[in-house]
Amino acid sequence: MAEPNESESRKLLRRLKETLAEDSAGQARLDHIVEIIAHSMRSDVCSIYLFRDAETLELCATEGLKPESVHQTRMRLGEGLVGRVARDGRVVNEADAPSAKGFRYMPETGEEVFSSFCGVPIQRLGDRLGVLVVQSRDGRAFSEDEVYALEVVAMVLAEMTELGAFVGEGEALRARHTTPMMFRGGVGQEGVAEGHVWLHEPRVVVTNPVADDPELETKRLREAVDTLRVSVDDMLQTVSREPGDTDQREVLEAYRMFANSRSWMKRMEEDIGAGLSAEASVEKEQSAARRRMGKSNDAYLRERLQDLDDLSNRLLRILTGQGKDTGAAMPEKAILVARNIGPAELLDYGRTKLRGIVLEQGSVGSHAAIVARAWAIPLIVHASGVVTEALNGDPIMIDGDQGIVHLRPDDIVVSAFRDKMAMQAKAQQRYAGLRDLPAETKDGVRIAIHMNAGLIAELPSLASSGAEGVGLFRTELQFLARSTVPKRAELAGIYSRVLDAADGKRVIFRTLDIGSDKVLPYMKREDEPNPALGWRAIRVGLDKPGVMRMQLQALIRAANGRPLTVMFPFIAQFDEFRAARQHVLDEIEREEKLGHVLPSKVEIGAMLETPSIAFAPRQFFEMADFISIGGNDLKQFFFAADRENERVRRRYDTLNVSYLKFIEQITKRCDETLTPVSFCGEDAGRPVEAVCFAAMGLRSLSMRPASVGPVKHLLRRVDLGEARRVIETAGESGAQSVRADVMEWLRGHLE
Ligand code: PEP
Ligand code: MG
Repeated sequence: MAEPNESESRKLLRRLKETLAEDSAGQARLDHIVEIIAHSMRSDVCSIYLFRDAETLELCATEGLKPESVHQTRMRLGEGLVGRVARDGRVVNEADAPSAKGFRYMPETGEEVFSSFCGVPIQRLGDRLGVLVVQSRDGRAFSEDEVYALEVVAMVLAEMTELGAFVGEGEALRARHTTPMMFRGGVGQEGVAEGHVWLHEPRVVVTNPVADDPELETKRLREAVDTLRVSVDDMLQTVSREPGDTDQREVLEAYRMFANSRSWMKRMEEDIGAGLSAEASVEKEQSAARRRMGKSNDAYLRERLQDLDDLSNRLLRILTGQGKDTGAAMPEKAILVARNIGPAELLDYGRTKLRGIVLEQGSVGSHAAIVARAWAIPLIVHASGVVTEALNGDPIMIDGDQGIVHLRPDDIVVSAFRDKMAMQAKAQQRYAGLRDLPAETKDGVRIAIHMNAGLIAELPSLASSGAEGVGLFRTELQFLARSTVPKRAELAGIYSRVLDAADGKRVIFRTLDIGSDKVLPYMKREDEPNPALGWRAIRVGLDKPGVMRMQLQALIRAANGRPLTVMFPFIAQFDEFRAARQHVLDEIEREEKLGHVLPSKVEIGAMLETPSIAFAPRQFFEMADFISIGGNDLKQFFFAADRENERVRRRYDTLNVSYLKFIEQITKRCDETLTPVSFCGEDAGRPVEAVCFAAMGLRSLSMRPASVGPVKHLLRRVDLGEARRVIETAGESGAQSVRADVMEWLRGHLE
């Protein structure tokens, strides 16, 4: 077999390009292509396998294997050498394929006579499309140059697939981005929504993967890279040298390093030399970097590869002229689809523009999740593959209750989904009727219902939901969405407007709860072995009190003669609360000296988010004006199960007997000192959980506004004494969780 020299490889690409211009159907084009490749590579066999579904590859065209095996031979991902190439996204090059590990003989193909095998993945930016294979009778491995030539060809085939060049009859040749698809992800925020896809980063379409004039392409590439360098330098100029901006600078420095990288440039110029266009050469190297990113366990390396990925996107936009602003109008019911998104970018879209959010990455506690929660729109995280599949404007339905995304749903899904939405809308109407009624159980126990918030924009829900006050105002968003620490006056203005909007109802402001997953853009990221157990929340506040004190001053000024309620997150021992509380007292004294009007009343509470503080001395409970159970954190520490880790986070039921007993113990300790206690974690917003918490003695719950109605509705229909007996009996029976018994009781009881 002869090695293709440079011009041969270019000739091959040119011939492939010509097939694009031919007026032929997908199958005919594929047949022609395998013939061209086999001929050019002087191999006995050339075959193209494409995905029929996410797990199955199908032989779609061959030169050299038995023609009757086309569309008959199939293999699972990972099965045989072809399946291995597809699964690992890596070349397999074997001189003696039949004795290679994992080889699987396909009798219908007649491939037994071919000894050497070289398979390269056909993939586009991490999206697996198929496998290109050449085989030969003589038993020798293909040379590096040959493998490289095949990779370049596979790149062009990937672009052709994306452009729809192989669309024909049969599953494997169906047009891409047209069929209904379902993705399963994690629940970031509950709720359902229907709308149209709006891609945060619209896909760049490369219509010219092959180019005839390498000099011209190299010139285009160099010019684009020059433009890129200038824009990175400009960005660096605008980032301040403040210590707080170090992280942003680091990223931009990494951008600059790549933009000036000789080896990156050299690889792309080689790709152009082999016949690719400038755009295709950028994508080829970007695909390779994504492959490495997916495989690397080194967080630093992954971050740098992510930087290279971002930079490649910028370069592609410069080359194709397809900017972020494509001129397309955002659809009315937009559902944002993104790989990931920061809080500032998300807030830029605005609450009214988006119906829902789907992220490939993200996490339950990410900044995007905080915003989605604040906006009360459904969010799905970890929806892997959705960005590569979705096109702007595609119909999409998202079920945030179950973490399911239906892209381009078929009629059956659409009607089932609309039924669900209609049922939910009806239920909401029913709940609206309860707005002014108390959450009083049948046996006359009153439960106070408050709402959680994090943005001024949410305050109108206070009146519409019928919540009695804001049980948790998370103050992180105002810090997360900026590139520098917000100013005291600005914060005071925001908090004051929150109090105005609450119109006399109590608002519990929680001081800044950062660290762990919530990292401020301007805060030096500390690499901690276990951030959830690390330097976070009150620990940061007490070690570096400057920001916390400024926040307390802002709160005092915002109150301006009105009552002020503050609570501290993540108190794990008495001294932390004592010290934090002292900061409030000191700031009040200071503000008084400065002549500011003091709050008419100040209440200082602690969040109970670690088991340790439940066993604190009695004096802690006496000193705290109130306690708020942060169940999201408390549960993760009680069960030692990371709330961010999809593998373990659902493993332990909130209605687990031990956990409910613990909640009961906390309420008893608070009752002993007459310290008011509330529960503000997400579980409080789940009606069955809310009933069980009330049965354990809690008389106050705080939840997202949309949960107020459903929780009130159920509480008003149950007898708490009975609920308690059911829970006790279930507990005594040795059950692990009381859920089954409680559900059965509710079913029987509510019918
Ligand atoms: C909690 O931990 O339950 C809580 C309310 O705080 P966050 O979710 O913001 O950590
Ligand atoms: Mg918490």
